[in-house]
Amino acid sequence: PWLFFRENPFYTLKKLLTPTAGILPRVDYSRGDSFLHFELSPGELSSLRNPHNALRVVLYCGVYDKTKSSKNVNIEFPHPVDITLNGVKIKDNVKGIKNKPGTAKPADLTPNVRASNHLEIAYTQTKTDYLIFCYLAERVSAPKILQKVLEAPKTPKESTISQIIGQNSSSNDDDELLATSTILSLKCPVSFVRMKYPVKSINCQHLNCFDALQYIYLQEQLTSSLWFCPICNSTINVGDLSLNEYVMNILKSTPDECESVEIEVDGNWHPLYENDD
Ligand SMILES: [Zn+2]
Repeated sequence: PWLFFRENPFYTLKKLLTPTAGILPRVDYSRGDSFLHFELSPGELSSLRNPHNALRVVLYCGVYDKTKSSKNVNIEFPHPVDITLNGVKIKDNVKGIKNKPGTAKPADLTPNVRASNHLEIAYTQTKTDYLIFCYLAERVSAPKILQKVLEAPKTPKESTISQIIGQNSSSNDDDELLATSTILSLKCPVSFVRMKYPVKSINCQHLNCFDALQYIYLQEQLTSSLWFCPICNSTINVGDLSLNEYVMNILKSTPDECESVEIEVDGNWHPLYENDD
């Protein structure tokens, strides 16, 4: 039995620490206990104890269902669960957001690792088998992810302008109401401050952007593998985030106190100020 997890942008998996996956067999009405043993080399241990090193020992857990694909599996722990490493209870919140699969995060075991490690997982009343994996992984910082986003192909100004014109000249009668100007906010919906790096997913059709760094900081707190658009709630792959040059140009051409602009049907725009009515 094996699982391939959905990539978590905040961890680069380096090495699996056990030859096989740990199994948490289904227990309908009782309590389950599973154990996993793994060793760390002196070199790995000293890297893990260096606070400036990004190396971590992380625990991934996912549902094992023979009838389903083992690829792009979401992290999901049984609930309730008690994770104990070398006799110390791990207090990481591995639950994720309720009813939002993909938002659970791996448990960070780093603070309690030693050369020879004994991991214990206690759980109750599960309706499926779970598999657990201990990995050596490198933690990826928010600025590093931002750098990747900024290096990705940008959305050219012309492409956004033709999208605005296209939306406004759509032959669909229902869109008639859209054939007027629209207001574009220059504030990030995540941080409520003026955007510095306006981005959105290439799969999102809306004009509004959010700030890449503020958004990544928010995801860093959640450390979940699955990201959602703060504007339309669609799922977002970090590789699909693209800097919007049209909005970037507006940000560069307006003073800091300007919080929104009015976009004309032809893509031209003019700044709006608080006292404008
Ligand atoms: Zn969206």
